[in-house]
Amino acid sequence: MGIVFIFGSIIRGFKKSSIFLLCLVSFLNLAFAQNIAGDWAEKKSRHFIIYYDSGVDPIYVKRIFYKAESYYKTIINSLGFRRFDFWTWENRCKIFLYSSQKKYYNDNERPEWSAGEVNICERMISSYTQGDDFFNFVLPHEMAHLIFREFVGQKKLIPLWLDEGIACFSETNSRPERLRIARSLVWSDMYIPLEDLSKMNNPDSIILPVIFYSQATSLVEFLLIDYGADDFLDFSRKVRDGEEWQEALRAVYGFETVAKLEEAWVKYLKDESKNNN
Ligand SMILES: [Zn+2]
Repeated sequence: MGIVFIFGSIIRGFKKSSIFLLCLVSFLNLAFAQNIAGDWAEKKSRHFIIYYDSGVDPIYVKRIFYKAESYYKTIINSLGFRRFDFWTWENRCKIFLYSSQKKYYNDNERPEWSAGEVNICERMISSYTQGDDFFNFVLPHEMAHLIFREFVGQKKLIPLWLDEGIACFSETNSRPERLRIARSLVWSDMYIPLEDLSKMNNPDSIILPVIFYSQATSLVEFLLIDYGADDFLDFSRKVRDGEEWQEALRAVYGFETVAKLEEAWVKYLKDESKNNN
């Protein structure tokens, strides 16, 4: 049994755009053997092994290596994990790339909205060639899930907004839009109270996903930018070493409760708006 985050667009009728690309966490018994069966070519870089079927253009594979190694550096720097070298030698991250959506769905038995997924336990990302969406959303999003969980441990109880906020913060094109939505929610007092947001750990119960993902991104941005990567590293270390996430929040950031974090985040966004006017 492993944690699997499935990434895709589940809102039918909407144009596929960044803010509607969502990520669901599932506990699935993913058959790894099923994925490596068949005719896969294999190429390695320092931190990655890419397996791809014969229909994938090798130039696309080259581009993935370039992007993936570059995201790797950006993500570990932004989370404060730069002194750690994950994913070397036999621990490389595996990327399975299908040449078509159909092959991906058939092999993995995933829902049709799925654009990609990450299996934390197997350190494995699966997806299909899908142009720039793969590079701008799927790849950095799934890599950030893996890196954060690699550090703190896959079984640690952490609210979904923190996992998803880190993953969305790492996407390239969609972050400004998500942050803009979060700012408008705060200015209009329409945001979800953090106590409630922290209880939304079942993706099926998230009825307003755009709000959920935007707030999650903004909260993580607040922690990473206003407090910095070193504090986030201390927080992650404490969680890794067994402290409850609320305890770690209190010890590192001084927030006695999640409501205090909410208060500081709201003030940060409101002050930012005043300073920009
Ligand atoms: Zn996700």
